[in-house]
Amino acid sequence: NNEQKALFIIFGGTGDLAKRKLYPSLFRLYQKGYLQNKFAVIGTARREWSDEHYRNVVKESIKDLYLSEKVADDFVSHFYYQAHHVSDVEHYKTLQKLADELDKKYALCGNRLFYLAMSPRFFGEISRYLKTENIVTDHGYNRLIIEKPFGRDLASAQILNKEIEKYFPEESVFRIDHYLGKEMIQNISAIRFGNNIFSALWNNRYIDNIQITLSEALGVEERAGYYETAGALRDMVQNHILQIVALLTMNAPISFNDVDIRREKISALKALKVYSTPEEINENFVRGQYAGLGDMKGYREEKDTAEDSNIETFVAGKLYVDNMNFSDVPIYIRTGKRMAVKTTRIDIVFKQVPTNIFKDSGMQANMLTINVDPQEGLNLRINAKEVKPGFHTESINLSHLHDIETKENIPEAYEKLLLDALLGDATNFTHWEEVNYSWRFVDAIRHVWDLEPADFPNYLPGTMGPKCSDELLAKDGNHWEFNP
Ligand code: NAP
Repeated sequence: NNEQKALFIIFGGTGDLAKRKLYPSLFRLYQKGYLQNKFAVIGTARREWSDEHYRNVVKESIKDLYLSEKVADDFVSHFYYQAHHVSDVEHYKTLQKLADELDKKYALCGNRLFYLAMSPRFFGEISRYLKTENIVTDHGYNRLIIEKPFGRDLASAQILNKEIEKYFPEESVFRIDHYLGKEMIQNISAIRFGNNIFSALWNNRYIDNIQITLSEALGVEERAGYYETAGALRDMVQNHILQIVALLTMNAPISFNDVDIRREKISALKALKVYSTPEEINENFVRGQYAGLGDMKGYREEKDTAEDSNIETFVAGKLYVDNMNFSDVPIYIRTGKRMAVKTTRIDIVFKQVPTNIFKDSGMQANMLTINVDPQEGLNLRINAKEVKPGFHTESINLSHLHDIETKENIPEAYEKLLLDALLGDATNFTHWEEVNYSWRFVDAIRHVWDLEPADFPNYLPGTMGPKCSDELLAKDGNHWEFNP
């Protein structure tokens, strides 16, 4: 029996994330039996909703998932709504009463998950009231799940963390990075540590370079207000990309549990070479901003952006993890909006054989590709004999794509992360030390970029970013392997 007992309190229960991700994920956990009778959800936000209205909203959010009205109605009967302003202490008192009532009613053993699905500026205050108003129980567990962004630089992240750690110890804080919930990102560990052929080669003696691409085809859409204060470096590199870098370059953990894995990830991020001078930064990082084309507006013409905005919608960089296994392996990263395709993929480019005994000069290096989005799969490029008279080599691809049925059954990232939080497994959540080292790295670049206006816009929609991104690799005699 997998049934978990817990009360969820969702702050921001009327918000977009709750409706699009959290309620459907909770429903899937319900369908799979992780949640049965012993759970309840309190949604809170300022809007004055009744329980009935709230349940209708939740039901609407899962309408594509249920086949039976009865199952859906049973599920939503566990949902309660409490109107609440985060700064009003009286509301926490009401919340505490309701939480205790539901704990009794559903036999929840004092287990609580507090999901903060709202602006980070409220995280500190909510944590405080949860503790001072005794919503945190003294029997059962109390886990705080928080959304990104965690600060906007190292200083603000430290302030936020100090505030939270007064009320919740690090092991109770579950910082969401939804990339860590993606199937193929989780697969990195299986590939690396479950295969001798890869674990033996996974180092600077055999890997030539690593390339990570997180490209989006859409522009900034409705998020320009936020994006103007962030940019691609903060929005994608500090969290998702550096998390992927850590998973690719960490040493093997002693065992596969959250403490051991996160210890190794922290070490990898600590080993990130931090660029400090403007020269080093300009040598290793480039930025871009999309121009307009036809009906598509350029970033500076989008609603809520400044007409001389210096915010980057594209970043490419070369970084190094200076540990024993990875020093000297360039790790090229790039991410951007309005690019040719939406894709997330990782290319591990191996070194060429020490000497080429064949006449063919154009032999390609071995390459392992991990396709994360949109099509999950793996591809290994190897050289083999061409089927022809004479002797020539050619590249062939050993490839595995999840079939349609497997693909359809891949749990959504949020579903996996919510289950992990229920089980108390913090493997796929970011530890404070990871956040700390990531910001240290990103801040140095941000600082230089904020001082030097960029020559924007510098790339067209539908391309893979500005020319300087290709030049970054060309300087090293390399090129982006993924070039749609
Ligand atoms: P949102 O739609 O703007 O929701 C914010 C929620 O906070 C609403 O429920 C709002 O409800 C409530 N709220 C605002 N001020 C409040 C106050 N003073 N007291 C009580 N409740 C208040 O935002 P979201 O898109 O769901 O995002 C939530 C968090 O998730 C953010 O940290 C965001 O960065 C992160 N995130 C979101 C997504 C996504 O796909 N949406 C993806 C990744 C990360 P009322 O107006 O009723 O008060």
